[in-house]
Amino acid sequence: MILQQAQDLICKSRLKKSISSFLPSKRGKWELYHDKKKLLYIAAAEIRDVQGQKLRKLLKQALNSHYYSGVLEKTGLNPDNIVLEDLKKLPLLTKDIIREQGDRLLAKPKSMLYRNASGGSTGAPVIFYQDDNYADNIWATMMVILEMCGWHYGARIARLWGAPQDKRRFKTLKGRLIYFLQNTRFYDSFNMSEENMLKYHYDMTKHKPDIIICYASSIYLLAKFLKKRGLSPSYPSISINTSAETLMPHMRHTLEEVFGREVYDKYGSREISGIACECSAHKGLHIFEDNVILECLDPVTGENVYERPGELVITDLNNMGMPFIRYRIGDMGVVSREKCSCGRNTMMLRKVLGRVTDNFYLEGGRIVHGEYFTHLFYGTRGIKNFRFTQNREDDFLLTIVKGSDYTEGCLEQIIRSIKKVIGESAALKIEFTDKISVTATGKYRFTVSKVKKGSL
Ligand SMILES: [Zn+2]
Repeated sequence: MILQQAQDLICKSRLKKSISSFLPSKRGKWELYHDKKKLLYIAAAEIRDVQGQKLRKLLKQALNSHYYSGVLEKTGLNPDNIVLEDLKKLPLLTKDIIREQGDRLLAKPKSMLYRNASGGSTGAPVIFYQDDNYADNIWATMMVILEMCGWHYGARIARLWGAPQDKRRFKTLKGRLIYFLQNTRFYDSFNMSEENMLKYHYDMTKHKPDIIICYASSIYLLAKFLKKRGLSPSYPSISINTSAETLMPHMRHTLEEVFGREVYDKYGSREISGIACECSAHKGLHIFEDNVILECLDPVTGENVYERPGELVITDLNNMGMPFIRYRIGDMGVVSREKCSCGRNTMMLRKVLGRVTDNFYLEGGRIVHGEYFTHLFYGTRGIKNFRFTQNREDDFLLTIVKGSDYTEGCLEQIIRSIKKVIGESAALKIEFTDKISVTATGKYRFTVSKVKKGSL
């Protein structure tokens, strides 16, 4: 307890904030943070000016990429003169193009970039790169998002999270120091057994986090567990910040009922983070229009649609290392031009549709988040697409679409990792196919569990 109080003092101290503000590595990020807060309130015409300037800069940089220099030459567009309306003349960027083009998409030397990979329940695994400019903008955006959720400097954070990249970071000395200074504790959402959930509950009761940052399905699972056990959490003191999956209305209702706190949803992906976040009016998510140009397209005509579902296509205005221009992120959504009552002046993302990740209920009462399996495919070559299905508690099917560089060895490590979790005695069938079907909303689901536990 004394250690926690000391940590609170350090994290809240003005000295830490001052040092942070003046560190050369942080000064630019703090400036971005202040700018981003202001940009949420400026007039629509002004934000379009900002987007136009950033788009021209992005396209000039994109000329350094083999892929985009060819694309721009074909369209005859001059990056110096381009306006927002020209964006539609550029082709959509798909995960298949990223996989096929690979390094031809890079606009800066690889040595200047950070390698990242994604899969998620709604997109095939792809490898991509991001630069310092992107990282700084995301850092600043996350500060703004936290503040919109009621966060204050030094607030205690519980992170109910599972992404292996983030978990690995947490285990390093530098990672531990960063989380210490951010007053953050980490809880593994990839292993939500009843035993672990009880541990998390007791630890959070002692730790008293102000904000819980979490996968929507993981906190929902914890809420249902606490409700079933008749346990009333005394945490968090401020709010719950969900992401990574669609927060369905019934989930929000349960969270508010069990935790008695407001729930704020945010939207982003590993390829493009910091896209949109909810405010205290809870009427949708504010789009960070200085980070992205978000188009919501009619799936048939390709025209922009408002107030009705369309495909979300995102242009990232910050990543100069590997431009994402008109990227098909894999989600359907509803965009609105109606302004929010909070005074922020951005376009609103009313809903994100179709992001679904199942929990897997395994023998012995273990519960594993579906993304555990998705993450096993991150960065794996030779596999174009996959689906991991649980038919019964001990019966699984892995469906694979081979890539052109598939070899027998591609699956070995993945199968070993799957068996470690499902158990050696469980049946695991591997099936190869040419195409994996999509759901009714037009989205892939990479993990499907047919085992439902109504009591949880
Ligand atoms: Zn608002």
